[in-house]
Amino acid sequence: MTSTLPPVDRAALVATRRDIHQHPELGFEETRTAGLAAERLRGLGFDVTTGVGKTGVVALKNGRKGSRCVLLRADMDALPVEEATDVPYRSRQHGKMHACGHDGHVAIGLEVARRLAAFPLGGSLKFAFQPAEEVSNGAQAMITDGVLDSPTVDAAFGIHLWNDLPVGTIGIMAGPVMASVDQFEIEIHGRGGHAAAPHQTIDSVLIAANIVTGLHSLVSRRRNPLEEGLISVTQVHAGRAFNVIPARADLCGTVRTFGGTFWDDVPRLVEDTAHGIAAAFGAHAVVRYRRLSASLINDERLTALMRDVAVDLVGAAHVQHGVRTMGGEDMSFFLEKVPGCFAFVGSAPQNGHASPHHSPTFDIDEESLVIGAELLSRTAVQYLSEPA
Ligand SMILES: [Zn+2]
Ligand SMILES: [Zn+2]
Repeated sequence: MTSTLPPVDRAALVATRRDIHQHPELGFEETRTAGLAAERLRGLGFDVTTGVGKTGVVALKNGRKGSRCVLLRADMDALPVEEATDVPYRSRQHGKMHACGHDGHVAIGLEVARRLAAFPLGGSLKFAFQPAEEVSNGAQAMITDGVLDSPTVDAAFGIHLWNDLPVGTIGIMAGPVMASVDQFEIEIHGRGGHAAAPHQTIDSVLIAANIVTGLHSLVSRRRNPLEEGLISVTQVHAGRAFNVIPARADLCGTVRTFGGTFWDDVPRLVEDTAHGIAAAFGAHAVVRYRRLSASLINDERLTALMRDVAVDLVGAAHVQHGVRTMGGEDMSFFLEKVPGCFAFVGSAPQNGHASPHHSPTFDIDEESLVIGAELLSRTAVQYLSEPA
């Protein structure tokens, strides 16, 4: 069945990616990108709804009544990074860059839409061109606006172009593959005073240092070592003078897990650590702890389906098990609601050095676009051709 799909239009795919790359837009500001996607999708005959989750675009090709509906998701946002490559298609926006590959995701989504627009599918096909992945709430915004309803979505698939893998390789596995993302902020309120008279103060800097150590000890001493998890303290703010002990210090950081007991317990552990250490010094702490996204969990059966497609596409030797990351991804919100699979499509040059995601020199091997488009097209066709 897949052999009758129209071939990938590599030149058009690359041109679309480069166009979007030159016009990066930050989360919930993707008006040009969304406009481009909506126009193309309308031209292909899809029912298009814009403004879903602020700047998101939904496109639907209806199957016969009662048939299943598959969702393909592409995120659209760029990052506040100044591009430092010298490619001819470099960003034209100062301080903004597609440094994660979402330009490629949009281009792939549009190419899949083009290929499947006139293809006889066994069910409904829905696309979610999603805003604001990098700030972790674009998926949630689209779900709140009903992207998974009418028709009800039965399965969801997506990919990430992935510079940790060489082009021609696909990373795919069932279970948790991207981490939960939590954020914490801690205010430490002590008593300020003269640096030469510490006994008259309650030193918020020393308390902050102890709390940082205490938080890292949670990972080594309070987490089951067989469960993945990490804590990074990423901001420390205190003081303005070399000879003044500041009354207040502020910490900020993130916790990443693949779920499990540590994920359940860690909000309380962070609070107890901050409060307990602050109290031991006679200070007090205020803790704000937020869950941003749960870990992304791939469904076993649908992962097997997508893996079969991947093997068919690049060969078993180039399909890697065990590719996962403590990075977060708000595709997890979709996969919390419906079963599906999210795969990593290698985008590093085959025999060269690739810049990491979010770096100012990030770029992809554009052959990965073709592989991504094949993988998603064939996965959708395969899913909709199976008996419900
Ligand atoms: Zn990213
Ligand atoms: Zn990304």
